[in-house]
Amino acid sequence: MTARIMEADCLFCKIVAGSIPADVVTETERVIGFRDIDPQAPVHVLVVPKEHYGDVAQVAAADPALLAEVITVADQIAGSLADGQFRLIFNSGPHAGQSVFHVHAHVLAGAKLGWSPA
Ligand code: 5GP
Ligand code: ZN
Repeated sequence: MTARIMEADCLFCKIVAGSIPADVVTETERVIGFRDIDPQAPVHVLVVPKEHYGDVAQVAAADPALLAEVITVADQIAGSLADGQFRLIFNSGPHAGQSVFHVHAHVLAGAKLGWSPA
């Protein structure tokens, strides 16, 4: 599975391109982090590769260094916006809650988090 630079009608490709606004908290050459529009924790940031991959397994297979960069950026966000502790979630597939099919890590931080995924 190779990445596409941009997928038509992909919400997060449009945020990467700047055609839909987002509250960007950090950016590298290959990754962008912006606040979730419906936050589930005091800090809820989505970390997204700028290239289009559908889900986390596709990035892991095609470009492990890019996936590692997503995790490093998540750690940096938790360190700058919270106390450095964080939960990282990749929903993969509709039954797991994935609604945007451009891979994104949810970074949740800033509070003692509960655990009720079902
Ligand atoms: P998923 O359900 O695919 O794991 O996560 C998608 C996330 O994107 C959801 O948490 C949702 O609140 C967020 N989201 C949906 N539309 C927008 C948007 O237009 N802007 C931002 N910043 N987040 C969005
Ligand atoms: Zn996309």
